[in-house]
Amino acid sequence: MERRQMVPLTVFEFAQLRKSLGRLLSTTQTPVVLPGEAILGIEAVAAGVAAPARRVLNLVSGPYGDQFGTWLERRGADVANVTCGYHEVIDVGTVTRAIQTHRPTVLALVQAESATGGTNPTRDILAVAREHGLVTIVDAVSAVGAEPVLVDEWAADFVAVGAQKALAGPNGVSAVAVSARGWALVEANPSAPRGSILSLLDHRAAQAPGLPVPPALPVLEARALIDALRLVEDEGLDEVHRRHRRASLAARAALGPLGLVPWQSNPGHAAPVNTTVRMPRDRGTLDAPRGLVAPGDGVLRGQLWRINHYGAYADLNRVEEAVETLASLVARPKDEALAAARAGWEAEHGF
Ligand SMILES: *Cc1c(COP(=O)(O)O)cnc(C)c1O
Repeated sequence: MERRQMVPLTVFEFAQLRKSLGRLLSTTQTPVVLPGEAILGIEAVAAGVAAPARRVLNLVSGPYGDQFGTWLERRGADVANVTCGYHEVIDVGTVTRAIQTHRPTVLALVQAESATGGTNPTRDILAVAREHGLVTIVDAVSAVGAEPVLVDEWAADFVAVGAQKALAGPNGVSAVAVSARGWALVEANPSAPRGSILSLLDHRAAQAPGLPVPPALPVLEARALIDALRLVEDEGLDEVHRRHRRASLAARAALGPLGLVPWQSNPGHAAPVNTTVRMPRDRGTLDAPRGLVAPGDGVLRGQLWRINHYGAYADLNRVEEAVETLASLVARPKDEALAAARAGWEAEHGF
């Protein structure tokens, strides 16, 4: 039997990977690569920022935002949650008023909640946060690749991303882009972990120029991420976004003819990463994902279905398959819905 050894990532490949992550996020910062799935990077940000009595305004439009608040509180932060119904997104005026009431120094939000299919008005919320001098945290895991994530233009201080959704990549590595202001906050935080997989400072130190590739980095996943990012650059990030918008329009257009109603009531708030559907009361049970159609997660189980048309599945054929699945779940004819989906796909004129 031939013995084989995994070929490690070269310093050059690792540097190229970090550069392409910077391009993906429209930032001149060099993002830190984390040796684990995106949720690790998000918890690492919570750990690096949370400090006793530090007041954080945490926007909760779904389970990911809720979880983030829990992590902050566990580490002693003084968390003020701003919530909305999970079929809606956070309103900018509400954020402005909450900043005036709670006087936080940090604001955190989830850009696109894949569990609810809603995208928060991130650009506008970050503009308000900036006016008030807040440090900002964005979970952009399910936004990146589906919609713009403009780290420098929005002056976002911590932006966590993963590749397993709209980038059609692996879930075993992820990244966090941190601004100079963000790093200063973590450096000055005595509660920020050190000597821990959750330590952003440790990861930054291990990825300083001139050092070998961090040994904790999973090689297969890093290579898969490099490949995924190359495919995105070849297609063009704008085109990848457009494909997600088209999938979203197609999926949403098919619901009416099936007698279904979108979970996100305002079409302007629909996340391009997936489409959520209010579960009809009288028909259709779905215990496990069937193709792209998945039951609700956690508290949303029994309330909605998700059509996960992201990454390689942001494709008309895959949306059509999902429409057929929905038609069979609600025992309705599919032809009108399929025609509506095709029309929705074609309707995208660069909105
Ligand atoms: C998918 C997702 C994550 C990452 O969750 P994983 O368990 O790492 O897949 C984080 N935040 C949001 C908003 C997500 O949609």
